[in-house]
Amino acid sequence: MQQSRHYLFVKTLMYRMKMDDLDTPAIEQEFYRLEAGLSGEQKLKRLLSDYHFKSASHIFYNFECINSKGFTHQMDALLITPHFVVVMEVKQISGTLFYKPALHEFSRVQENVSENFPNPFDQAYRHQLFLEHQFKAWQISIPVHHIVVLANHRATLDHSLTNFPIMHMSGIPRFIEKLYRQHPNPRANITFLQNHLEQLYEQLPPRRTIERHRLRNGVLCKACDYVNEMHYRQGYFICPVCGGKSKEALYETFLQYRILVGPRITNKEFREFFNIPCIHIASKLLAKAGLEKHGGNKGTYYLIPEKFE
Ligand SMILES: [Zn+2]
Repeated sequence: MQQSRHYLFVKTLMYRMKMDDLDTPAIEQEFYRLEAGLSGEQKLKRLLSDYHFKSASHIFYNFECINSKGFTHQMDALLITPHFVVVMEVKQISGTLFYKPALHEFSRVQENVSENFPNPFDQAYRHQLFLEHQFKAWQISIPVHHIVVLANHRATLDHSLTNFPIMHMSGIPRFIEKLYRQHPNPRANITFLQNHLEQLYEQLPPRRTIERHRLRNGVLCKACDYVNEMHYRQGYFICPVCGGKSKEALYETFLQYRILVGPRITNKEFREFFNIPCIHIASKLLAKAGLEKHGGNKGTYYLIPEKFE
């Protein structure tokens, strides 16, 4: 499963925000929301790996792309078969869900508090329309459906949602069986479809940015949930609280910088972010990490790779 860059950004940011920043609680909440969404997608993945498809099939989880007008699409799951295609919008919502179809209003009541949510039918239908348009351009004629999948079995669906494409996750195998009965003849070559969709796929940038001065500096201890700062001593980063000793922390901190700030880092920026005042140790560590060096004299910067070997 491809994690979105937005999720990675928020996850990394949560550990790097200063405790007294006013946005810290909102960022923590956003992280827990994204985590819940991810766990919903994982449940769906487990359910569908147990299901025997009646034809060849492929599922893209977290399918992201940009359409020809420059707008983005993010689909939680996209199922393709030679007979039909299904866009799945996974929701991990608790409480009782209500719908006012004439008004396109989707809401949830929990502990007597009513709250509106973005309409998942409109979201999924927008993806469906886009795919239909795209398939036509590829000269493929295949039915496209959408369904909203409720991953939280404790949630209650009100009667107002009957006859709308929403169901508890456990109903998905039966829903797919029904689509096979409805579309008994294959319409498209699945390999062709899969290849074209793979070409269309494009990882979206994070939906947030953060000013550099709002980030905590220092190499943070993973074992302490990134609360405590580690100090560099003779080739290791050492945590003064738990006593943990790590070489990996260097690489991990580079990746955090790459996610939150960007791939370019100068010696000065390195010393600030890693909280290593000594320019010689800094140069040594930059060389040790094997970062590509660019520019000359005062304009020297290093490139942080996407991954360290
Ligand atoms: Zn520690």
